[in-house]
Amino acid sequence: MDKTKILIVEDEPTLLDTLKYSLEQQGYEVVTASDGVQALAKARTEKPGLVILDLMLPGLDGIEVCRILRQEMSLPILMLTAKDEEVDKIVGLEVGADDYLTKPFSMRELLARVRAHLRRVRLLREELESSGQADQKSPNGDVAISFGDLVIDESRREIRRNDDVLALRPKEFELLLFLARNRGIALGRSLILERVWGWDFDGGSRTVDVHIRWLREKIEVDPAHPSRILTIRGIGYRFDG
Ligand code: CA
Repeated sequence: MDKTKILIVEDEPTLLDTLKYSLEQQGYEVVTASDGVQALAKARTEKPGLVILDLMLPGLDGIEVCRILRQEMSLPILMLTAKDEEVDKIVGLEVGADDYLTKPFSMRELLARVRAHLRRVRLLREELESSGQADQKSPNGDVAISFGDLVIDESRREIRRNDDVLALRPKEFELLLFLARNRGIALGRSLILERVWGWDFDGGSRTVDVHIRWLREKIEVDPAHPSRILTIRGIGYRFDG
């Protein structure tokens, strides 16, 4: 049984109940919210592993909720929309949803998507945590993470590219490590600031942008057209390996 916690945000009580029931049947732990403000509060306190988010909500709409969640946490967000035009809106605004389903959708389809996203995230984490993909050993025996010609060696706190050690500032190293551990997930600037610089840091999110630029100069083949650290408009950055 997968006891991942899922937050459902939906203002139609019948649909909310149906979704809750179906997900619980699959063994998920479910928490719910029926408006945007409540959704943010629940996400912050419950720390779900995935969010199913209706686009049209009273008060704060799904797009705003999605944008704020992306700034604060890394987790899959599946959006529910009433019309295809709304899908265009989500895609056009690049709000950072991982996926979307147009109503009416089949519960089977929804469950398949939920499973797929949770699996994707779990694999990414396992890949980085286990020694499976982390295939290079540093001289003292600790595991390092490698992406093509790039090796992130945590124990030696160094990055190597084609076996050359790159000269990185300490924060550049921590930033790259944080991005790499969340490979494939869009990370908001506020989240990056909090995790890499800490709550008490006074500098603004420009600090993140500056460090990303420095990192790109060191790890990208063409820093002007990055392929490893991508900018996700309106959100922040995503490391693609
Ligand atoms: Ca709605």
